[in-house]
Amino acid sequence: MEILVKPCGEFYTNCYIVDRKIIIDPGVDAFEFVKEHVKDPLAIINTHGHFDHMWDDKKIKEYYGIPIYIHKNDAFMLTEDPFGYNPPKVEADILMDEGVYKIGDYDVEIKHFPGHTPGSITIEIGDEMFSGDFIFDGSIGRVDFPYSNPKDMKKSIEKFLKIPYDKRVLPGHGPITTIKKAQKFLPMWLDYL
Ligand SMILES: [Zn+2]
Ligand SMILES: [Zn+2]
Repeated sequence: MEILVKPCGEFYTNCYIVDRKIIIDPGVDAFEFVKEHVKDPLAIINTHGHFDHMWDDKKIKEYYGIPIYIHKNDAFMLTEDPFGYNPPKVEADILMDEGVYKIGDYDVEIKHFPGHTPGSITIEIGDEMFSGDFIFDGSIGRVDFPYSNPKDMKKSIEKFLKIPYDKRVLPGHGPITTIKKAQKFLPMWLDYL
């Protein structure tokens, strides 16, 4: 599987392109990056609804006519601008829950990890896990935003600690880590929450 990445906008939000087909978290000015690299577009998937992860959803959806996938608990963020940053509003197409979604030939596995937002998810495609702002290399997403919930984050970390296999973890900001590495540093954050 080929993964392309570009940190977008002032928060360096990672936009990922999988096999030139699946676009994950197209943030501010991701459109040019996407246009340059995507060949056979299938879908946009948002790890959560924060503006810096969905900013170019609308442009890309309209340009390619492809659907937007997002967890059902975060879909309102695409249309309601609850944070007042005025991103281009757009309707989500597939409101997801935990489970496996068939996108083209890909089995895309969604796990629900609320806390940073109510609809934060990890997206697993093959040997890769995209973690959004749930888990970074060495840290976790903030839980002091509107709609964040530290108690949910705690439960989500406990759930993540039980994942029995290893994969690369590609976060919404910063460098790559792995499930096993994250399982080593995460217990420290349980004390903090
Ligand atoms: Zn976020
Ligand atoms: Zn973010």
